[in-house]
Amino acid sequence: MSNSHGKPAAVNQTQTDAYPVPPFEGQKQPFPGLASKMLPRPDHGETSYKGSGRLAGRKALITGGDSGIGRAVAIAYAREGADVAINYLPAEEPDAREVIDLIKAEGRKAVAIPGDITEENFCLKLVKQAHQELGGLDILVNNAGRQQFRESIKDLTTEDFDATFKTNVYAMFWITKAALDYLPRGASIINTTSVQAYIPSEILLDYAQTKAAIVAFTKSLAKQLGPDGIRVNAVAPGPYWTALQVSGGQPQEKIKEFGASAPLGRPGQPAEIASLYVTFASQESSYTSGQVWCSDGGTGTL
Ligand code: NAD
Ligand code: MG
Repeated sequence: MSNSHGKPAAVNQTQTDAYPVPPFEGQKQPFPGLASKMLPRPDHGETSYKGSGRLAGRKALITGGDSGIGRAVAIAYAREGADVAINYLPAEEPDAREVIDLIKAEGRKAVAIPGDITEENFCLKLVKQAHQELGGLDILVNNAGRQQFRESIKDLTTEDFDATFKTNVYAMFWITKAALDYLPRGASIINTTSVQAYIPSEILLDYAQTKAAIVAFTKSLAKQLGPDGIRVNAVAPGPYWTALQVSGGQPQEKIKEFGASAPLGRPGQPAEIASLYVTFASQESSYTSGQVWCSDGGTGTL
């Protein structure tokens, strides 16, 4: 079979041509933003992700599980048979409610724990509560993140720098350390880094540094926890269509062309990256640790 360009017909159900391509409408929300207010709404796998029991009986805590990549991971984990706790900021309750309903619809336990992870005490409480309400904990996904662009280092305040490092680096350290009181052998820790760790943009000076720190944290901790049978890996997304980008993550002109420079010609949708987090968490990857897995629409750079 050939299509009108004389090329072979596309594979059934391929998403490559089904997802939105730029140009997008300009849009700006206050931080942290809501997925439900984005145009077009991101696809987190709500109607498409099909599980096959790869995480049956597992218990996962996902930070930033209300929207974007974290929401896609929460949906996928529930459909793979895991009970899921999500953390998010109180302002994101409407997004979080949708995720809780989707997890419950799979017959899995869903735990909602709103709160600000830039506070150490809250991070300790979060892990304890997740473990208690899930009845165990064997997957930790450190995914919450802060990205606010600044054109110049001169515009980057100490408050900005502090908030970005507290959210992306300190919280990961506090939450992971607390989780080690509970994680058994066979547990999996997955951190969300970024292509920014390797190819930093000039307008993301603080953010890119935190993402590089996450790579080093992942590789160092993987060595430390190997003898305990705990694996530590990271996922490095390229341009994904999420609330982070439209709530101060990028200037408007970049939102309109978001993903255009990727070889696939568009941004990724959160549903397209969830399977990487499933694979890292699954016992099928029991010899994989200290790795960074990139999904950026085809540059081949990482
Ligand atoms: P998102 O806005 O949907 O998710 C980020 C989440 O972080 C928010 O939903 C929020 O709940 C959480 N968060 C932020 N500050 C917090 C705080 N102080 N306390 C508690 N929670 C807080 O956007 P996303 O793109 O899905 O982001 C998920 C991860 O992916 C982030 O670590 C981000 O840096 C990373 N990432 C995203 C892209 C992209 O293009 N979207 C690319 C590379 C990496
Ligand atoms: Mg959100």
